[in-house]
Amino acid sequence: MSITRQRAIENAVQHNSSEEPVMIHEHIDDYFGMNVFGENEMKARLPKDIFKAMRKTMDEGAPLDFSVADVVATAMSSWAVERGATHYAHIFYPMTGNTAEKHDSFYSPDGKGGLFTEFSGKQLIQGEPDASSFPNGGLRATFEARGYTAWDVTSPAYLMESRNGTTLCIPTAFCAWTGEALDKKVPLLRSMQAMNKQAQRVLKLFGHDDPGMISSSAGPEQEYFLIDHRLYFARPDLVSAGRTLFGAAPAKGQQLDDQYFGAIPERILAYMMEVDNVLYKLGVPVKTRHNEVAPGQYEIAPVFESSNLATDHQQLVMQTLKSVAPRYGLACLVHEKPFAGINGSGKHLNWSIGGPNVGNLLKPGDTPHDNMQFLVFCAAVIKAVNEHSVMLRGSIAHAGNDHRLGANEAPPAIISIFLGEQLDDVFKQIAAGGAKDSKKAGVLTVGVDTLPPLPKDATDRNRTSPFAFTGNRFEFRAVGSNQSIAGPQVVLNTIMAEALDYVATELEKAPQGDPVKFNAAVQKLLRTMIKENEAVVFNGDNYSADWTVEAEKRGLPNNKTAVDAFEGMDVESTYAVFEKYNVLSRQETESRFEIYREKYVMDVMIEVNLTYNMARTMIFPAVVKHQKLLADSVIAIKSAGVEACTASLEEVTELNVNLQKTVADLAKAKELPEGDLLVQCRYIVDTLIPAMNVVREIADTLEGIVSDDLWPLPTYQEMLFTR
Ligand code: ADP
Ligand code: MG
Repeated sequence: MSITRQRAIENAVQHNSSEEPVMIHEHIDDYFGMNVFGENEMKARLPKDIFKAMRKTMDEGAPLDFSVADVVATAMSSWAVERGATHYAHIFYPMTGNTAEKHDSFYSPDGKGGLFTEFSGKQLIQGEPDASSFPNGGLRATFEARGYTAWDVTSPAYLMESRNGTTLCIPTAFCAWTGEALDKKVPLLRSMQAMNKQAQRVLKLFGHDDPGMISSSAGPEQEYFLIDHRLYFARPDLVSAGRTLFGAAPAKGQQLDDQYFGAIPERILAYMMEVDNVLYKLGVPVKTRHNEVAPGQYEIAPVFESSNLATDHQQLVMQTLKSVAPRYGLACLVHEKPFAGINGSGKHLNWSIGGPNVGNLLKPGDTPHDNMQFLVFCAAVIKAVNEHSVMLRGSIAHAGNDHRLGANEAPPAIISIFLGEQLDDVFKQIAAGGAKDSKKAGVLTVGVDTLPPLPKDATDRNRTSPFAFTGNRFEFRAVGSNQSIAGPQVVLNTIMAEALDYVATELEKAPQGDPVKFNAAVQKLLRTMIKENEAVVFNGDNYSADWTVEAEKRGLPNNKTAVDAFEGMDVESTYAVFEKYNVLSRQETESRFEIYREKYVMDVMIEVNLTYNMARTMIFPAVVKHQKLLADSVIAIKSAGVEACTASLEEVTELNVNLQKTVADLAKAKELPEGDLLVQCRYIVDTLIPAMNVVREIADTLEGIVSDDLWPLPTYQEMLFTR
């Protein structure tokens, strides 16, 4: 066994047998949010009128006055400096889906050989990173590189502690000098605003004069893998592409189902506790942690929050998962498919809409058939998803997610909605003329007298649906583990705005003030909406082959790869809906398509080049050494006067010839065709990825033949089971 692999195993054994606590837990409420410049801190440090102005902006989206920002900046910086911060950073979320930050010191030279502290309202409100290094999809020429970061008052500033110091982090929006959005936050905020506007119209019709700001909420469940970091660094594919490009299936994978919710290993649990601790301090309400289905796979989920904050917090969760791991000798993998043949990772996005005075608008109550307001909002979701399913599919499209969707571990690329028995029944009754009752939830009896009867949900779960109603929210399950949750929410909020606009426009025509007639109008509208959009509702098994056939009959789009999904979404209806609701201008939408395609090409090209390099410089030499070993042994056996068996040598030799041939083919194929990104994307899907897969197939066969101590790469067995 190679030294790296030996050390990784020693490392795991040592970590798991250590009795030293790495971290002492106190009461969580003593430190929850302690690194956040949140409401309590503001209230204590700001003059009353300033605090009031801030609240008005935070709660109602009122514009913020510059003079207010100045006062807040002073309070914020003195809080940060008291807590040991030396620098501040505008944090922003470029279109790559990553988090970006630029740090500046609070200190400036005073001209007399000393320093003074400086942090003004202007510095809080606005920053100016060089925007030319971030993808802009043709929105700006590089010589017009001005980009601004603008303080997002609705997402609180926080302190990021690191080993050698503390930084004040200020969440910001990132836009071009000309005002175009260059990031993920601006469109999200715009989409929330658009949805709020239309929801207000609908709620007014239902008699709510003051529903408060209606916003979307998100509860993202994050799946990830942990492997020993020594093994990680011995795999160039994991380091540079985030997934293994080679690796034969281990004898034991996930077939025993003994990992899901299993006992969490000591080292992993210690890691999870520190992750929770860091996130608690940052005010991220993480709640759930457990083993996932695949060996070495885990999940972390927070309590849901308003979309904008939830999205910033989600970025912090991914960042923290990665940054804490090395302290435990681990590497955290958030790629959608680090290991072929083993379940991949997703990010279930739980999404709902509501407001302070009306609560959750997707909550059916005990008698959903009676709850017209709920039914209208729910029908609007169905309409939105049916009419723009290509947008939803597009919002989760990228190279990594292609390995997961439709692989019988994640929902297929066909977007459909699971409503569940109860709601499906209510909607069927409405479509047939009017809903009279709702199926009751009932009680679950287990048949053991000592166990209490359990209240039962009205509907069982359907784990195979990409977009499932789960009691009081929809769960979008096709989101990739590595992706920002901003994009899918931008789409959901925008298409919801359009559907609510339709509902409001129709119902505004109905006689107001006459409950009977208004109710009849609602019933009629619901019937129309349900009938027109019933194709997208599917309560069966989304993994079955029959569904693909059935979905095609229903006319539902099936954009299998990211490249198909970009093409599917790049249609007039997408541009029109983004433009109409002021979420993205035509140019901003175009820029995003360009960036997604560019990113796709770059992601896969990294994999192609890695496949080529690793096959040539790591796998081929190992195979040659093994061949020589066999050849030498044949000679030795023969010279001893015994008849030698050459079957193994012949087998390896043949495979090695094939390896060299397919690698040479890949080398030829990896010249991208001239032309635009569309042409290159197609070429990658049709030609390059298959060429890459053939190399892998041969190499993986060789892994099962070549002597273990010659094999240069940590194996699946070692990576997945060394905990
Ligand atoms: P699952 O059973 O799907 O694994 P979890 O409890 O792990 O469920 O995660 C469910 C997620 O959904 C949590 O983040 C939770 O806060 C979130 N959630 C619950 N209610 C809502 C809601 N009304 N809107 C949005 N998210 C919600
Ligand atoms: Mg879930």
